[in-house]
Amino acid sequence: MLVKKYLVLLTFAAALFVPLWWFINQNSSSDQYPAPTLTAPLSTATPGPGPVAPAPEVAKQLVPADQTMTIPILMYHEISTGPDCMWVNEPDFRSQMLYLHDNGYQTITLAQATELLAGHYDTSKKVVLTFDDGYSTFYDHAWPILKEFNQTATLFVISGLVGNQAYMNWEQIIFLDSQGIEIGGHTRSHPLLPTLKAVNAAAEIHQDKEDIQARLGHRITSFCYPTGKYNSQVVQQVQAVGYAAAVTMVQRKASSTDNLLLLPRWGVYQNEPLIRFTTLLQ
Ligand SMILES: [Zn+2]
Repeated sequence: MLVKKYLVLLTFAAALFVPLWWFINQNSSSDQYPAPTLTAPLSTATPGPGPVAPAPEVAKQLVPADQTMTIPILMYHEISTGPDCMWVNEPDFRSQMLYLHDNGYQTITLAQATELLAGHYDTSKKVVLTFDDGYSTFYDHAWPILKEFNQTATLFVISGLVGNQAYMNWEQIIFLDSQGIEIGGHTRSHPLLPTLKAVNAAAEIHQDKEDIQARLGHRITSFCYPTGKYNSQVVQQVQAVGYAAAVTMVQRKASSTDNLLLLPRWGVYQNEPLIRFTTLLQ
């Protein structure tokens, strides 16, 4: 009888403890996430174009302290033919990746570029490809081409739009993360941050980061200001939540003298000749 009583008590305690443990884990701060690591693809993930080797390690070669290093950070949106002006069609994107491949360029993630710039390591022949908003055309059209040329990229996700029509779902994003594509934050609903009250801007930045980290199970360190718009308060908020780097839409090559939270990018748009693309790399 006594044993039965203890069993009931034990069951009751477990029933209380397990949900409590889950709740604490879901709500604890972002410090719980270890540094980003690559994990095996989820067996339940959308099959996609199949596994690929993660982005290769980046060689770290110190350069003299007085030498300024530069690196092109390219900005893409849709790899398709529309709907607005922010697209590059598949054949053009493939030609651009072929050019990088044939000319000895190595694509690295924004997190890797940040590490090289901050540590004053050599950035020659390195390029960062960034894709804003998390459109499903990245998964359907860009990813197979990146895989073909063993290239990598950084993808900025609007957590409130994940799974909506024209946007990737979490399974696809988690799969890409497992394949070495860097996932970064882009706010929860893509507002113009400087137009919001401070508390609302902070929530947009913070909640998006928490949403993504909870799905990926690790910390994210790169951010993109929606439409490239920011002010000093927004930059402080981005830094306060733990982002190491953030990109704008200022059109030029990034350099080691830039503020890592205000990195410029070159936009790549539709129907541009390959020669224009090659000039962005110089
Ligand atoms: Zn955007």
